[in-house]
Amino acid sequence: MSKIDSAESLRSCQPVEFFKFSEVICPCCGQCLLDYASFKLLYKARVLIDMPFVLYSAYRCIKYNKEVGSTSRNHVLGRAFDIKCLNSVNRYSFIRTFLSLNFSGIGIYPNFIHVDTYHSDVTPMLWYGR
Ligand SMILES: [Zn+2]
Repeated sequence: MSKIDSAESLRSCQPVEFFKFSEVICPCCGQCLLDYASFKLLYKARVLIDMPFVLYSAYRCIKYNKEVGSTSRNHVLGRAFDIKCLNSVNRYSFIRTFLSLNFSGIGIYPNFIHVDTYHSDVTPMLWYGR
């Protein structure tokens, strides 16, 4: 059952099925303060989609978030994930699943999809990014 002790396991550098620790930590400092509920939702999406996820970004510290030019706090709060997605067939399948799981922020970028749970606190939205 508790493969999903995920965020805690990740914090203590334990392996979690489907996800690499190196993909969820902040690349600048190695911190990993994922929001448990958000990670659990990502895990559910991974199970439903049944395809490997490559994460371009997950947790970011404040400093690194500024460095990459983000003005949003969702990655800083450990509530956002950027998942590699390069083609239209996968994009359809991913977005269908993310919406079904009530991710409240979805950003479609040329080579990845951003999902977060942060926008449930503000206004749920879907956007195009460059
Ligand atoms: Zn950092």
